Amino acid sequence: MIIAALLLLQQATAASDPQPYWQQQVAYEIDARLDEPTGVLSGTQRIRYQNRSPDTLRTFSLHLYLNAFRPGSRWSAADSAEGRRRFNDLRDPDFAFNHVRNVRIMGTPVKPIYPFAPDSTIVRFVLPRPLLPQDSMTGEMEWDARPSTVPRRQGREGRRFDFAQWYPKVVVYDRYGWQEHPLYPAGEFYGEFASFLVDLDVPADQVMGATGVPVCGDPGWERANQNRARPVEYQRGYYGSRTPPADCAAAAPGRKRIRWYAEDVHHFALSLNPRYRYEGGGFGDVAVHVLYQPGDENIWGNGVAVERTIAALTWLDRLFGKFAWPQITNLHRIEGGGTEFPMMIMDGSAEQGLIVHELGHNYTMGILANNEWREGWLDEGFTSFQTDWFWETIGRPGGYEDTEAGILLLDIDDYSEPPSLVAEAYRDFSSYNTAIYSRGKLFFQQLRYIVGHDTMHRILQTYYERWKLKHVDEAAFRAVAEEVSHRDLSTFFAQWLHSTTLYDYSVGKVKTVRRTISRVDSLGRVNRQTVGWVTRIEVVGKEKGRIPVEVAVVAERDTGVVRAEGLAEREWVEVPTRSKPKEVLLDPGVLTHDWNMLNNTKRVDRSFPWIFGGRGHVERYFHPYFSTRSRRDKLTAGWHPTVWYNDAGGVTVGLRSLTDYLGRFEQNQALISVAQGWGSDEDVKDIDFFIRRRNPLALRAPNASQTLDGFKVEGRFGITAEAEWTRRAHLSFGPTWSRSATLQWVAVDDVRYLDTGLYDDVGTVELQLGSGVSTESGDWQLALRSSLGGGLAYNKDGLAASGRPDLDPFYFRGSVEGSARRPLGSFDFGVRLYAGVASGDQEAAKQRQIYFQGADPLRQLTNPFLRSRGALLVRDDFHYHSPGGAGVRGADPHLSTAAIVAFNLELERTVMTRPSGLFHRMALAAFTDLSHGIGGSSRDFSGGRLRFLGDAGLGIRAGHRIGDTEFSTRFDFPLYVSRPDLAQDRDQGDSEIEFRWTFSFDEAF
Ligand SMILES: [Zn+2]
Repeated sequence: MIIAALLLLQQATAASDPQPYWQQQVAYEIDARLDEPTGVLSGTQRIRYQNRSPDTLRTFSLHLYLNAFRPGSRWSAADSAEGRRRFNDLRDPDFAFNHVRNVRIMGTPVKPIYPFAPDSTIVRFVLPRPLLPQDSMTGEMEWDARPSTVPRRQGREGRRFDFAQWYPKVVVYDRYGWQEHPLYPAGEFYGEFASFLVDLDVPADQVMGATGVPVCGDPGWERANQNRARPVEYQRGYYGSRTPPADCAAAAPGRKRIRWYAEDVHHFALSLNPRYRYEGGGFGDVAVHVLYQPGDENIWGNGVAVERTIAALTWLDRLFGKFAWPQITNLHRIEGGGTEFPMMIMDGSAEQGLIVHELGHNYTMGILANNEWREGWLDEGFTSFQTDWFWETIGRPGGYEDTEAGILLLDIDDYSEPPSLVAEAYRDFSSYNTAIYSRGKLFFQQLRYIVGHDTMHRILQTYYERWKLKHVDEAAFRAVAEEVSHRDLSTFFAQWLHSTTLYDYSVGKVKTVRRTISRVDSLGRVNRQTVGWVTRIEVVGKEKGRIPVEVAVVAERDTGVVRAEGLAEREWVEVPTRSKPKEVLLDPGVLTHDWNMLNNTKRVDRSFPWIFGGRGHVERYFHPYFSTRSRRDKLTAGWHPTVWYNDAGGVTVGLRSLTDYLGRFEQNQALISVAQGWGSDEDVKDIDFFIRRRNPLALRAPNASQTLDGFKVEGRFGITAEAEWTRRAHLSFGPTWSRSATLQWVAVDDVRYLDTGLYDDVGTVELQLGSGVSTESGDWQLALRSSLGGGLAYNKDGLAASGRPDLDPFYFRGSVEGSARRPLGSFDFGVRLYAGVASGDQEAAKQRQIYFQGADPLRQLTNPFLRSRGALLVRDDFHYHSPGGAGVRGADPHLSTAAIVAFNLELERTVMTRPSGLFHRMALAAFTDLSHGIGGSSRDFSGGRLRFLGDAGLGIRAGHRIGDTEFSTRFDFPLYVSRPDLAQDRDQGDSEIEFRWTFSFDEAF
């Protein structure tokens, strides 16, 4: 039985052996002429194709990539869906095209089929007869190609032409079949390795760069050469006897012909500009050509770009192995950013990091040619990783830390998608970018962490040696990585490439054992001698992610480190140290993507005091009021003194502490304050507190946030508990949805602090359910918010009704608010609609009514400058506006009722902006606020019915930034108030039009 089973197993293994690697053989012969005025390159093309697959082919497909950059393409449709306008609106002659005509295959005319019509980036032909394995055929065709005036990887601008993916290009046939794939904004290219013989007829003064070597003709380098001391290295003889004849037939007057030749490349790129400046250099037998623009002399010229290109080549040669081609051309293209092509990088700048990234793609994409739309991480993640490694070797680390922390926040809130998806399957373009560049880069960094730097280097070299000039995929890379590292990496590859698992390891039990030996001294006495300690540590995996974890024991005089495999939920490791252990640290280098580092430490000596806020290390600092510190690996705890004033407690001093982890968790506050009675009329000397627990680690849930406040502040005490959920549909656009539930209990115990115009002497308990959505639509910024709930009011005698017959113990409270903003010429236009109601059978308590001027009193509860009688911003002589309610900013802030509808309108014009700091933006504004009280209880102060109340005026606004805090100052002048007797800023006998002012630290809405 056992033998039979073994045999079966062997057979199964043999059967699942992958078929031997093969790739198709392709040769292009292109003859093309550029007509500059129309921007059209017209040519004829012969493709020789050998079917080296084990399959019989019945169709043949070509990419016509330039047809993406025009209306009607799938690219444009994806742009429209994500709110981008690039090629969607282009008209003739601005959009790009690649038209193919008179196609003959095997000598027979064939008809084009566009399988993704109206997109025409793929054209398919039925073969006149099947192409058997190992058989060859020839295709011939004529075509016209024009780049678009809006650049994207390709483009044209006047006499400048960046030709990329410009000719009918053979679709890859691999083990998955024909890789017919339209071009989308997400995902790049995939090409068959081929030889290219390209004859070009261009204006005589053009300077050009291209894939391959110029066999004959003048690319214009000699004339453009800025460094006469360095003659141009053409590499004309690089291909030896395979070089096509130097046959550059005579061109028409004012024209020239250049013949280019390249082998073993899966694309042929081309760029022309009569004003290109040339500088050359070399690395071994690789010629370096740099082409830059007039004006670039100091940033590209004087050898700078040449040197940086050589620095990149040197690094990549060391990392992977010898460059596979005769030359590399680095040129300054029309578009910013950069794109890689075999033997050519088109860059928007000469920045070293960009050059290392794009030139790195000549290895990972060009020579190790992956399918870029299927496995973008294998080129973008790979080259981003090697670029960071390059910086590390010259002493500029940090690439890992920044990326890891950013990705972590996306993981925590469930926005991440795995790097292995097909490009157009991502939620949106930002998600695609994040997954393949950043998460892809982290994959390689994690792999290097697991196998070590030296092994990683050997993996890269083996991978290059084995797979250069071939198509690669995850399986190819993983096989090499496992073979070189002697590790089963299946779990790691699955988790990092095919999922977005969270990782969290914590220290469990810790036991320390002293190791002693017994020695017999010369007098025969037995001495027990300590030779060291062994610390046994339980490593607990609290999430599904599995990765090896370093476990360090910090002892008095030394540190011991071992690595836990991290595969089991609970794993014991032993760490020997020579001196007495003090502390255990998991993942001291923060390399495991562990989301919760606060459970990664434990004191062994127990002499350390227990600290509020977590077991982990705490970074304590003086909090500078406007910026809160945030750390990846520990809790921060800032503190600062506070001082404010109100008429009851007088000058009040306090001490506040704020904690934070990751800018997302443990955002707790503790504030203790003492009213000194100085300068007050009541001489109240209270000790108050405010404690907030926000987003505790234990309650982590995607997109969720929790707040629990307990407080005793200035005559009020109570509890607020709130749970919120917020999620944006896409990373960079689309609606943001939110929901919340809030339970608030506020009791009144000392009316001396309270403005009786804002508070009744009753306690309230209220539950509110909120929901909202905000989004952008065209130029509009739209928001809609609603809340629904109710509560009860009580006093010392019980429910308020028993003591105050006019006060309803149970009340309903709800509001709906919608706002819309958009630019309107040089103005910003904003409009808000509001309806609010708070009522039972009788009135709600004063603090729960709806206010004409702004926010209700309980909204100011946490603000010591607003919440109590005589506080700094709400004194008799100061007119403050807290946005909310009906928003009639010119109205008396005490004016409230049971129900209001309101309309607010603002027109703002920015008159000055600068990057940051105080007064970084100044604006002038005009506004009007109109409201209408509803119901019998809508009364003014004298008891008359209050229906319409409106204002209008002008304002001055300024935007400020101090530290991480952004705020505004807003002076509004409600020069018109429809009821001057109800204005915030009023004197006897005022008319509707008077000079009045209000101030605020917030936008009006
Ligand atoms: Zn890239």
